[in-house]
Amino acid sequence: LGVGTTDLDLAIVNGTVVTATDVVSCDLGIKDGRVALIGTGLGSSAANTIDATGKLLLPGGIDAHCHLDQESPSGLRHADDFYSGSRAAAGGGTTTIIPFANQKKHTPLRAIIHDYHERARGKAIIDYAFHLIISDPSEQSVGQELPALIREGYTSFKVFMTYDALRLTDGQILNLLAMARREGALVMVHAENHDCIVWLTEQLMAAGHTAPRYHTDAHSAVGEREATHRAIALAEIAAAPVLIVHVSAKEAMREIQYAQSRGLPVLAETCPQYLVLDSTQLDCAGFEGAKYICSPPPRDAADQEALWRGLASGVFQVFSSDHAPYRYADSGGKMKHGPNAPFSHIANGIPGLETRLPLLFSYGVRRGRIDINQFVAVTATNPAKIYGLYPQKGTLAIGSDADVAIWDPDKEVRITHSLLHDNMDYTPYEGTTVRGWPVMTISRGDVVCTDGEVVKAAGRGRFLPCKQPMVGTAGAIPGVRN
Ligand SMILES: [Zn+2]
Repeated sequence: LGVGTTDLDLAIVNGTVVTATDVVSCDLGIKDGRVALIGTGLGSSAANTIDATGKLLLPGGIDAHCHLDQESPSGLRHADDFYSGSRAAAGGGTTTIIPFANQKKHTPLRAIIHDYHERARGKAIIDYAFHLIISDPSEQSVGQELPALIREGYTSFKVFMTYDALRLTDGQILNLLAMARREGALVMVHAENHDCIVWLTEQLMAAGHTAPRYHTDAHSAVGEREATHRAIALAEIAAAPVLIVHVSAKEAMREIQYAQSRGLPVLAETCPQYLVLDSTQLDCAGFEGAKYICSPPPRDAADQEALWRGLASGVFQVFSSDHAPYRYADSGGKMKHGPNAPFSHIANGIPGLETRLPLLFSYGVRRGRIDINQFVAVTATNPAKIYGLYPQKGTLAIGSDADVAIWDPDKEVRITHSLLHDNMDYTPYEGTTVRGWPVMTISRGDVVCTDGEVVKAAGRGRFLPCKQPMVGTAGAIPGVRN
């Protein structure tokens, strides 16, 4: 770029820069919101300097699966909008979010996109892209609207195999997969067998098993395994890449491993709740278990161990929060149907935007389950590549956006909800002590959060149109052959 040190707006000095491949002690020079120089001695003449002695300089996190300001079919609305959600993200070292624009049936996708842009505008404090949720794949949507929208930067969409208001038939999913392959987009699948959930729920209700803990039984690992197998089979038939989101069960992971071992472009995501929480949490006294109800549910120790191995060995490329915030003691949240509601009537979803990176660092990197490069890969670099934001986002390289999490690897934090920046009334990780926490979050060269305080106002975040996913191109994602 021909930038000299005297032109820098900001130099972050004496830190250790970490990417998905390297760990290097050097300075970062920032100019016009982008990384302009990587070297040593950059602090001498920059306009501003931040001393990062003893700290890691990580690419800001990308949370590629979070739900903000969506209404559910039963009329609930998420507790977090684009303001509180993006504050929480920034508080936790995340600088890019990819929430969902959720299609209501019989609504044209363009109207949905417009609507969600309105929800984000003037609110987001960090940059954002959108995935579309396709609930109504009419000929018009699939044939015309989606191909046009893909070219405008909406290159990934999620489909559901369960939930009455959202689920698609296998035939509809095949049509979408074929279109995605043709147009260069990526289908993400929520894989659970709908009829199994309905049938098991009826059996449990008839037996009087209505407490929150029975949510885990209704959303069985076998049902998740079957749907994962089926989603992969559909993608194989359509010769399309596919990404299985929020994998919770070891059986489902094995289906993904089997597909990858056959060379299929099958990608997968897991989330903190499946590594750190387990089904015993749903069994706490009274209604407290509702705080942990999400789908698929946290499972048990054997699943956790399998998922950790899968994260370390590359079965999973993406680590996201699946932040789906419903307040606990709130008639618009978990208690909509009162504190004795059967599990089937409790809002599905838990928060996690702000705790995602600290939990993975503490339980993964500090405990030796993954290394720091894998941490960066699954929290930033891979999602940037997979969702078409690389190398603008997801790494620290010359020309990339200066999105940096300045990370104190030794800072010990006892997680409690009052520390967090979301609009929730609880965190599922209350009382958990982690070691490693972001002390500063920088977005396009702007300090947005420092020492736990968000210092930027609503509305500075920009929309990011996504390019074609780097899936199906040679060497795009390690571990996936095409
Ligand atoms: Zn889902």
